[in-house]
Amino acid sequence: MGIELQNITKKFTGYTALDDISLNVASGELVALLGPSGCGKTTLLRIIAGLELPDAGKIILENKDTTNLPPREKNVGFVFQHYALFRRLTVFDNVAFGLKVLPRKERPSRSAINDRVEHLLKLVQMDWAIKRYPSQLSGGQRQRVALARALAVNPKVLLLDEPFSALDAKVRQELRRWLRKLHDEIHVTSIFVTHDQEEALELADRIVVINKGRIEQQGTPLEVYDHPKNAFVYNFLGNVNVFHGRIKNGKVTLGSHHVDAPDELKHAEEKPSQAFVRPHEIGISKIRSNDTDLTGTIQEVRLMGGQIGLNLACEGFDHPIDAEIPRDLYINLELAKGDTVFVSLNRVRVFTGDYVI
Ligand code: ADP
Ligand code: MG
Repeated sequence: MGIELQNITKKFTGYTALDDISLNVASGELVALLGPSGCGKTTLLRIIAGLELPDAGKIILENKDTTNLPPREKNVGFVFQHYALFRRLTVFDNVAFGLKVLPRKERPSRSAINDRVEHLLKLVQMDWAIKRYPSQLSGGQRQRVALARALAVNPKVLLLDEPFSALDAKVRQELRRWLRKLHDEIHVTSIFVTHDQEEALELADRIVVINKGRIEQQGTPLEVYDHPKNAFVYNFLGNVNVFHGRIKNGKVTLGSHHVDAPDELKHAEEKPSQAFVRPHEIGISKIRSNDTDLTGTIQEVRLMGGQIGLNLACEGFDHPIDAEIPRDLYINLELAKGDTVFVSLNRVRVFTGDYVI
């Protein structure tokens, strides 16, 4: 096992930042820790790296208990959210830094350091910038150099704390694909922290969803997206329409509408429920095709690239419903603001429980 976290708990003066976290990361795996700001992601990474001590629990890296080791003995590479390159050092010297400060016995020869730095800079496609200073690089380029620097000392484990979050959307998307490819080449056991669900879904072998210092769910991107365990996970993984209603006699109310309760809630006693529908799981038509279709009026049309967002006022519903349909369908149906349409809720997910949106 690459990383084993056993029952990690961390409190800051009366506040529990991490509450009994246990997590295994296989050697060579890329796991995303996904959760809202303040849920404890950075604290967990700092504990793995040895920059912070847990109040309870163990950190086992490649089968060795490292709970009480100082950071430099843990052999962990870290890339932070904000570029942490040394401003006065060139790209070469930044990447070489971790090797040059090793005790003499462990330090590679000067030519071995040169070779390693060149190799790493090629790997992150920054070899052309070897003599530049950080101020002469873009944000994305700096983060690639930071990654090369973290990899220089051959870490057992690579920890990335929202490394792309300060970059603009297009660069962020490019870098996440690039990082996925790089990981497929080097297979270093990695934990990638993000609050961006798209980034986690696209990048990771496995996603661990965290909320308030606890793990809500873990699984492959498809598992957590298609089978969210609870309302928090469902809501956090994408845009949603929420309908507050009640479960009663095997039916769930959504506005003036009823749908069958899911099997596990068929025999539930009457109680409040939350029903969720993702915008892309809503069908739009100009003719009524089903008794259960809602009647709606298009209040707003939003261009979203390949998809068109529609804001619909539906009869019997207090709040507008957001739908997303393919652009081609929008054009074929000749839809426009003010039109009346028939709306089908194709996939309704119902949760009961404490988490209320
Ligand atoms: P995330 O990275 O998920 O945004 P953090 O791990 O940075 O969250 O923080 C988790 C919680 O712990 C936050 O409420 C934060 O304010 C608190 N916290 C983090 N570090 C400290 C500290 N050194 N002292 C007190 N509280 C802290
Ligand atoms: Mg953080």
